[in-house]
Amino acid sequence: MMGWHWLLEWQTPYEFHGHLIDKVLAEEKSEYQHVMLVEFKRFGKGLIIDGKVQSTVYDEHIYHELLVHPLLLSLQNQPKDILILGGGEGATLREVLRYKSVERVVMVDIDEKVIDFAKKYLEEWHKGAFEDKRTQLIIGDGYKFVKETSQKFDAVILDLTDPIKDSTSYMLYTKEFYESLKRILKDGGGIATQATSPSFSVEVYVTIYNTIKEVFRIASASYTYMASFDGLWGFVYGGVDPSSLSPAEIDKRIKERINDKLAFYDGYSHEVSFKLPKNILEEFKKTNRISTEVNPVYVPA
Ligand code: SAM
Repeated sequence: MMGWHWLLEWQTPYEFHGHLIDKVLAEEKSEYQHVMLVEFKRFGKGLIIDGKVQSTVYDEHIYHELLVHPLLLSLQNQPKDILILGGGEGATLREVLRYKSVERVVMVDIDEKVIDFAKKYLEEWHKGAFEDKRTQLIIGDGYKFVKETSQKFDAVILDLTDPIKDSTSYMLYTKEFYESLKRILKDGGGIATQATSPSFSVEVYVTIYNTIKEVFRIASASYTYMASFDGLWGFVYGGVDPSSLSPAEIDKRIKERINDKLAFYDGYSHEVSFKLPKNILEEFKKTNRISTEVNPVYVPA
């Protein structure tokens, strides 16, 4: 489809952000989701699922590096077996495969159409990661996979759609689910999840942190600015504490463990991303809410 139009992305029922789209490059409707690849005027190519920007070539590396590397660099043992839940674009997979020690990455995404779409159109994101010999791709519900598997992992990375009520992902942000994740981790293992926005859904960000802290006892939170999401974006880690590592230690471990240079994450960006400002720290004091299966947290939509 040629010509331009606006994407009005609703962050909450009271707020939307407008992005000018130059061109819709591809569009598909699956059993679960409405998937679009567009050319944004400002950000270049971008993936939109159900009206929400998932990532763009402009800054997807910031999101995916901050999701993956603080977790994998904090593990005492060099990571070998990794599980990714969601992550349709293949960019989380790409970041995990940079580790010299990684032997196997199981990626479970619920939507085959998103994966086929990514393989066909999102080369800039996955950079061939789906074809790597270490990749085992499973089409299925991450919730069910975790409940049923007897395999163990060094780390589990949750790169899921936002917890919108009745979506396919919102039960994967609950205490019961995190308890199931704990069961499939090897000793010393940890998890990381995207945790929505400290700017437009701060209660959700804090609740995800509280819930992970409740289950894993050790937890930390990071955030950064994502231009293509038009706000701050947050991540939470459990079982390991990346915030305890010094910038020098991060730089040393990047050199030891990772092939190639990272575009965003290093000792300096680590320090900045884990230092939460006073207004966000105040939010942590305000709520002690935990997300449970009977009372799950979700982003108002
Ligand atoms: N960066 C993103 C964002 O901003 O929300 C998330 C990226 S990724 C495209 C989200 C993926 O989660 C999609 O590919 C979707 O199919 C997958 N997903 C949603 N629910 C899932 C579930 N229950 N199990 C596995 N994958 C799921």
